Amino acid sequence: MRNKVILVVVDGLGWQAGHDGMGYLQGLCEAGLASLHQLRCELPSLSRPLYECILTGVPPIASGVVHNDVVRLSTQQSIFSLARAAGLRTAAAAYHWISELYNRAPYDAVRDRLTDDASLPIQHGLFYHLDHYPDDHLYIDGELLRRRHDPDFLLIHPMGVDDAGHRFGGDSMEYRNAARYHDKLLSQYLPQWLAEDYQVLVTSDHGMNADHTHGGILPEERLVPLYLLGSRFNHTSTARVRQIELCGLMASLLGIAHDKPDNSAVLRQPD
Ligand SMILES: [Zn+2]
Repeated sequence: MRNKVILVVVDGLGWQAGHDGMGYLQGLCEAGLASLHQLRCELPSLSRPLYECILTGVPPIASGVVHNDVVRLSTQQSIFSLARAAGLRTAAAAYHWISELYNRAPYDAVRDRLTDDASLPIQHGLFYHLDHYPDDHLYIDGELLRRRHDPDFLLIHPMGVDDAGHRFGGDSMEYRNAARYHDKLLSQYLPQWLAEDYQVLVTSDHGMNADHTHGGILPEERLVPLYLLGSRFNHTSTARVRQIELCGLMASLLGIAHDKPDNSAVLRQPD
């Protein structure tokens, strides 16, 4: 079975803010249309290492992307390369580190910010490089890519929650309100995506501590939400999901044969 997939990585969204502040997503869960799992992110709890983990299924210690300053292309098979090998269309509205990991490194803003190149792993990209790039613009970028290019796999990657956490700390009104704002943004787009039968994963790379940062093993740094939405999920599974399983899970939803870690327990079994 082949489905289209949208992955939303809300950068820096810890479990508590993602659980408590997202009433629309929780409402979908209560209605049986979504499910929420708690993920414990791999280590170190840093952005670039965990982008690579989510998008390749390989943890940082194994991928070698062990800190944010590793500026090079990924050496792993990614969800983008798997999709392209299967002849599927790919797109991303994302921070420029995503372009560096899968398209071209180092990032050249004039060359790479707006990407349309069918030969690249991410064929259609709208990349940004300032951490305070507005989240509502980023969702518009993602929706524009979706409508214009009809990608099979679309990554949407906003930075506003992480930015609020670095400025005000993970235990702050501003951080929690940034998470609540994402719930509203998602409520503007998700109904249409679900009506068109996309399978949607909403998760994060890592959380945020009270010292305005992340990288270690505190629960507030490591525990993140994973909301699953769409007709392929059973929404009843209580199986533990690991961050390294997301790439394989998405590949399975896309109908791609792969040898990545996977988690079929969250999927609806065929009738
Ligand atoms: Zn951060």
